[in-house]
Amino acid sequence: MSNAQNQSHKEKMQSLQAEQKRKASEAVDPERGLVLVHTGNGKGKSSSAFGVIARALGWGHKVGVVQFIKGKWVTGERKFFEKFPTDVTWHTMGDGFTWNTQNLEQDKLAAEAAFTKATQMMQTGEFDLLVLDEINIALRYDYLDIKTVIEGLNSRDERTSVILTGRDAKAELTDYADLVTEMVEVKHPFSHAGIKAQQGIDF
Ligand code: ATP
Ligand code: MG
Repeated sequence: MSNAQNQSHKEKMQSLQAEQKRKASEAVDPERGLVLVHTGNGKGKSSSAFGVIARALGWGHKVGVVQFIKGKWVTGERKFFEKFPTDVTWHTMGDGFTWNTQNLEQDKLAAEAAFTKATQMMQTGEFDLLVLDEINIALRYDYLDIKTVIEGLNSRDERTSVILTGRDAKAELTDYADLVTEMVEVKHPFSHAGIKAQQGIDF
C-alpha cells in the first residue's frame, strides 16, 4: 500500500471516528425502559431475547418471562433460567400450539390470562426486563387486541423494558416500539434440508 493510500485511509477513519464520537456525545438517556420487537421469518427472535436476559442478569437486573402460545414444551432456556429463581420469574401459558388445540375460545382465554399476568408484571416496578415471547402470534390470530397490548405497554413502570417476539408483528406495535429487528431467513435446516429441531439449538 502506498503512503498516499495509507494517508487517505487514515483520514477516512479519523472522520468516521469523529462522527461516531459526536453522535455518542449527543445521545440521550431516556431514563425509562425501552420496548423492543423481534419479528420476521428467520430464526433468532426468541433466542436473541434470551441473550438479552443473560446480559441483564449479569448486571443483577430482575427479569420476567411470559410465554404465549407454546404451552408445555420443555426448552433449554427454561431449564437454564430456572436455576435463577430469585432473579427470573417465568410463566408459560397456553395449551400448546394453536394447530394442536384448534379451539379458538380456549386459545383466547389462555392468551388473555397470559397478558393479564404480563400487565401485572409490567406495572409492579419489580422488573427491569420482561420478555413477552411469541405474543405477536397471539396478536396475529386475534387472541389479543393490539389496543389492549399498547395500553398495557403504556401502563408499564418506567423502569421496565419489554421485548415482544414472534412473526408478523403488527404495524401499531412496530410504530410504538423503540427498537424493531426483523430476522430474515437466508437458510433454515428444517425448510432447506428437512432437518428436525435440534436440542440445544432450536429448543
Ligand atoms: P429461536 O427460538 O430459535 O430464536 P425464533 O423465536 O426466531 O427461533 P419461532 O418462530 O419462535 O422462531 O420458532 C421456534 C422454532 O421454530 C425453533 O425451533 C426454530 O428453529 C424454528 N424456526 C424458526 N424459524 C424457522 C424457519 N424459518 N423455518 C423453520 N423453522 C424455523
Ligand atoms: Mg420464538
